[in-house]
Amino acid sequence: MGRLVVVSNRVGPIRGAARAGGLAIALVDALREGRGLWFGWSGDITASTGAVHHERTAGLEVATVDLTEAEHNDYYNGFANRCLWPLFHYRIDLTAYDRRYYDGYQRVNARFAQALLPLLRDDDELWVHDYHLIPFAQALRAMGVKQRIGFFLHIPFPSREVLVTLPRHERLGQSLLAYDLIGLHTQRDCERLIDYVSNETIGNWDGRYLYTDQTRTQVQAFPIGIDARAYAGYVDTDDARRQYARVRNALRGRTQIIGVDRLDYTKGLPERFSAFERMLADYPDSHGRVEYLQIAPLSRESVPEYVDLRSRLEGLASRINGQYAQVDWTPLHYINRTLSRRSLAGLYRASKIGLVTPLRDGMNLVAKEYVASRFDEDGVLILSDFAGSSRELTDAIVVNPFSEEEIVEAIRQALEMPLDERKKRMRKMRAVVAENNIYRWAGKIVSTLLKFEFTAPEETHVSVSVSGSC
Ligand code: ADP
Repeated sequence: MGRLVVVSNRVGPIRGAARAGGLAIALVDALREGRGLWFGWSGDITASTGAVHHERTAGLEVATVDLTEAEHNDYYNGFANRCLWPLFHYRIDLTAYDRRYYDGYQRVNARFAQALLPLLRDDDELWVHDYHLIPFAQALRAMGVKQRIGFFLHIPFPSREVLVTLPRHERLGQSLLAYDLIGLHTQRDCERLIDYVSNETIGNWDGRYLYTDQTRTQVQAFPIGIDARAYAGYVDTDDARRQYARVRNALRGRTQIIGVDRLDYTKGLPERFSAFERMLADYPDSHGRVEYLQIAPLSRESVPEYVDLRSRLEGLASRINGQYAQVDWTPLHYINRTLSRRSLAGLYRASKIGLVTPLRDGMNLVAKEYVASRFDEDGVLILSDFAGSSRELTDAIVVNPFSEEEIVEAIRQALEMPLDERKKRMRKMRAVVAENNIYRWAGKIVSTLLKFEFTAPEETHVSVSVSGSC
């Protein structure tokens, strides 16, 4: 049996995987099982990039390469974070369509492929991660690599009308078909990929595979999960208990709503702040009774769109508190710090309502973490219809995150929901989160990849159906 080779933009910490969390642990586990190699960017920016750093850490083989300043700018900050990230999250208004970024992205993918090539063995299986590396398999194929290669996209796959706004999108689309397996979070993502590929005449869909004359690609939904058992353990730690007690003391019987999101324009934070403001305006009975705690650590601070978002949120937060706060009540607590998982677990537990309203999200793990932390089977989750997790957590109150009215109504419904109903819903969601955990997710992808058998594309072209199973 060959090895499993994981390729991702950043190589996760092998020794510190436990600290880095669910995905890193699950990948390290899969790599151990597959006697594997993890390849990616070292995280360093240097003047010369030829070298491949090769080491053995905790029994695993790790190979990394550096980026130059220009590559980091064009490939990572540029094409990945200023073009693909907003585009795949439907923010064409924020997408930087810059050909220099695109060329840098292609060049780095080709260079990464060149660096990995001599390390590969004939019977290896490759598992490539995320939007930074869409053309990676195609670059390897061009160098003669025949091994099976799977891909998982951690962000949403956008609708065809959105994706075609990308100049030369066909090249990106064609490169996807160099993979043997494409994993996406939800069935809806699969349908969008199939619709895009077949209707932009990039390939055909035969009801089971996307194919061209040379390629055949299996498409399947693998909804990512969290380490649910670890979360249950965090709630039981001193840190979590301390945090819980501190908040309950400060609340003095008031109800807390919690939001936890990286400060990112996909998370719908201004819309959420405005909805809360509207609730305060429309329901004076909530004054002095409800508080909203938003934890939003800063991210991608060198990207201008994130700087703008930060100042917009600061303006909204001070306006809301300026207008509604009383000497003994602050309606909105807005914190830009990163907290430990244990502290977060304590805060989730202290909050009657989890408010998770991204405008678009591949999965959204915060929703699952909130549920996993509620071992008391209490609490109400308000969840965006446009987060992948809303496909699984159907017992949440599902809202349109663009609608202030719907968010306000959902908060009111959550505040008034009887305990029986809260428990019934939470119990069901907890079962889903426990079942679809991160280890099962990794296991399913790896076994699908390893089991996948390539046979020549069928002669007959079957008519395209986007509603077929994928
Ligand atoms: P994304 O990957 O887009 O940031 P997810 O909801 O899928 O969104 O994952 C976010 C992760 O970051 C979660 O595991 C969450 O607990 C973590 N996180 C978010 N905010 C904080 C914070 N303030 N402190 C620590 N971890 C955080």
